[in-house]
Amino acid sequence: MSELGNELITIISRPDIVFGQGHGSWLTDERGKRYLDLVQGWAVNSLGHSPAVVVQALADQARRLVNPGPAFYNRPMLDLAEKLVALSCFDRVFLASSGAEANEGAVKLARRWGRKMRGGAYQIIGFEHGFHGRTLAMMSASGKPGWDSIYAPMPAGFAKAKFNDIGSVERAISQHTVAVMIEFVQGEAGVNLADPGFVRELRALCTERQLLLIADEVQTGIGRCGHAFAYELFDIEPDLMTLAKGIGGGVPLSALLCKERINCFEPGDQGGTYCGNPLMAAAGLAVLNEVCREDFLEQVRLRSHQFSSGLQQIARDFKLPGERGAGLLRALVLPSDQAEQVATVARNLAPVGLLLNAPRPDLLRFMPALTISAAEIDEALGLLRKALRDVLC
Ligand code: PMP
Repeated sequence: MSELGNELITIISRPDIVFGQGHGSWLTDERGKRYLDLVQGWAVNSLGHSPAVVVQALADQARRLVNPGPAFYNRPMLDLAEKLVALSCFDRVFLASSGAEANEGAVKLARRWGRKMRGGAYQIIGFEHGFHGRTLAMMSASGKPGWDSIYAPMPAGFAKAKFNDIGSVERAISQHTVAVMIEFVQGEAGVNLADPGFVRELRALCTERQLLLIADEVQTGIGRCGHAFAYELFDIEPDLMTLAKGIGGGVPLSALLCKERINCFEPGDQGGTYCGNPLMAAAGLAVLNEVCREDFLEQVRLRSHQFSSGLQQIARDFKLPGERGAGLLRALVLPSDQAEQVATVARNLAPVGLLLNAPRPDLLRFMPALTISAAEIDEALGLLRKALRDVLC
């Protein structure tokens, strides 16, 4: 047998573990070891691993119809769009497969609108350390250091402002600017929260200067921050919003939503082979039905409060700089660059491992299933303490 993963193109360094099963907040590897999962495929499995409602929806839909093609309507596509419109402040939906694809769609729609309504304005202002995906254009839109050069030449038409600094947004605006694209919580950058005052000023500035406000809610949407969408935290409405990750509950599904006044694609302007695929849309519907259940979001907020209090106690006990986050998207800041080491030690704990994510050298990020139980949070906090003791003490 060849060495593990030898036939795969290496894109990330993976531990020597092969996962075989997952249920709720738990993963089991092929040797039978169990792991409490606070990563959940990078905030994707909103209902945990293999949730019964998604499994059932996929099985039912697969038996009925897998793919009539994107040029025809199918029932789950229509129902999902209707549900998203009912749940949000938006009027129209484009369905796709990944966050980057939805964000590309948002940029295309904004530029189309700019051509029609704003004399050809095309430039998109993003934020330093922002993350919008890995296509070439989304790498240009992102503010990750180094991303403007590794695959140069990069698509043009993207400017950068400083997060939470309205003056820097004003300075970045030119006659060519058509939109501002923002994550209300910068996830990959280390769970940086937008200030409510900044978001409200940004909304007002966009309205005043006829710019579109694009909310990238790929990571923050679908209950992750304790509300259906993070824009609700700020009492504002964006003009466009993108969703991915949590909406599919583990399968590749994303969405671009817009207000009617911006709905200006002509037939043929935008598309894709998997856009509106009924199998994925059926999974999305199953997720949304759960998230819309009475008390679901209230439970997320309760678990978020419990988790945040536990992390704060850990920060005090281990003399760490602190914790932060919104809902069940949280981070713990370490005093030095040992996050990767803590994640490795946590994963190797026995008999039960803990899966953690280290998006920055000195920071752990937590994205548990929105359905995680109070007992599982307590168990996770206990395992985290063990790993921190091992590495920091
Ligand atoms: N936007 C944000 C805010 C994200 O966090 C991510 C993924 N981490 C993306 C876009 C890209 O999504 P995908 O990997 O599905 O293309």
